[in-house]
Amino acid sequence: MTGARIAAAQAALRDRGIDALLVSVGSDLPYLTGYRAMPLERITALVVPATGDPALFVPELEASRVDTSVEIRPWGETDDPIDRIATALPARGVVAVGDQMWASFLIAFQERLPEARFVDAEPLMAPLRMIKDEDEIAALRDAAHGVDGVADQLSTVRFSGRTEREISRIVSDLVLASGHDSVSFAIVAAGRNGASPHHEASDQIIQPGDAVVVDFGGRVRGYGSDTTRMYCIGESPEGFDEAYAVLERAQAAAVASVRPGTTAEAIDTVARSIISAAGYGEFFIHRTGHGIGLDAHEQPYIVQGNTGLIRAGMAFSIEPGIYLPDRWGMRIEDIVVVTDDGVERLNRSSRKLRFVE
Ligand code: ZN
Ligand code: ZN
Ligand code: ZN
Repeated sequence: MTGARIAAAQAALRDRGIDALLVSVGSDLPYLTGYRAMPLERITALVVPATGDPALFVPELEASRVDTSVEIRPWGETDDPIDRIATALPARGVVAVGDQMWASFLIAFQERLPEARFVDAEPLMAPLRMIKDEDEIAALRDAAHGVDGVADQLSTVRFSGRTEREISRIVSDLVLASGHDSVSFAIVAAGRNGASPHHEASDQIIQPGDAVVVDFGGRVRGYGSDTTRMYCIGESPEGFDEAYAVLERAQAAAVASVRPGTTAEAIDTVARSIISAAGYGEFFIHRTGHGIGLDAHEQPYIVQGNTGLIRAGMAFSIEPGIYLPDRWGMRIEDIVVVTDDGVERLNRSSRKLRFVE
């Protein structure tokens, strides 16, 4: 697997006339080597030349944690790692740099190699990472299945009288118990807090009549889950049910529109036109979705202006929302995978409003 991915990256380098790829922390590294580096001040860097063998430079003390088929070159505590890595880079060529490398490292490389040209590696890596293979889709499927169970378990939890933070902790525990390796986020946004799409769970006490946005995800074998379901405490707030019916329709129609050959922005248009026609257009304040994989948010972004073609193997969220300032918010989110002739919805828990105590 690793070998095939490195070969694909090298072919992409040669296609673009780039001499080497330089990646550090971030998800390109585990994608290419199977190893996720700690985001620390001791640099870990993979150098992939357009032709020839790649090399992975790691701090000596971390070398024993690394399990990869790529050649490992440990550097010691008193070595200058920038110097050692720079000798593996073309002094006058073009180097594509992973988008999450620390600025301090990039500046050091630029000073060490003043005649090299550094470009963004994302246009090279994103097309590779966007198309998931069977193992990646299996991990995404397992992750989705885990959080679907959590959404259902939450329907039996008492929300009323607890703080958003308490519910968020319960969600996190359930996500881990579902077989996830880690929790990435557990947004719980009650009442008017729901109108802020990325609200951080606070000490606000959840009250009867609140609508609560619960948006959560974690990682299974490196791959993300991400789902949003809506919980109402006893009853729904005024004006909520009518809007929710619109949102359900918009989300379902957007999912149904996913197939190879459509564009990312066309999927956004499907959701947005239904919400706009019902009069809530100005309250749908974010894109319809984002890709998911080794990163929680990655390409393709399902947004106006992205005319990129949708292709089999892509995985992304469909998560329209309606946010009425100072009143409430609502969102429904599923992860989908594009198949050869349509779409597989990975999240299958009920999207109906869930009434809880
Ligand atoms: Zn989000
Ligand atoms: Zn989400
Ligand atoms: Zn999402």
